[in-house]
Amino acid sequence: MSETNVWKPDDRIIAASEKLKKDFPFMQNTWCGFGYGWFDLVRELCEKITAVYAEAGLEPDIVVLTVEEKYGTLRFEWGGDAQMTDEWDNDEAYRAAYSAAYEKITALASEYEDKSETVCEKCGRSGMIYNVNDWYTCLCDDCLEKEQRK
Ligand SMILES: [Zn+2]
Repeated sequence: MSETNVWKPDDRIIAASEKLKKDFPFMQNTWCGFGYGWFDLVRELCEKITAVYAEAGLEPDIVVLTVEEKYGTLRFEWGGDAQMTDEWDNDEAYRAAYSAAYEKITALASEYEDKSETVCEKCGRSGMIYNVNDWYTCLCDDCLEKEQRK
């Protein structure tokens, strides 16, 4: 598979990324490298992560580094800041609480990676992964046809 199909965000994607960064502080410095069709999916994932912290009564410490498409699926790469604190080293309850949150976030990220296999990255309708010119991408029938005509 070649990486010649260089991904470029259009204005719609840039605007949607800005909104995501504004609505979720942990997305503030995130590199968003995915199509417009996946923004609802990523927003839903961010809402669920916010809920994980709210339910546990914890301050969100997550920092999302990259959200991108890789081999046709959504990859959500993140780290937890709590691991760098003194409390993490010295307070067992603190460590246990954040560890539980991290486990939930890991499960959510993998759940949404699976979900992205059936959501067209261009438009958000239901799709599947195709190999278009050596590029794996999740597309609906209409978007597949457009891509193949390129
Ligand atoms: Zn589509």
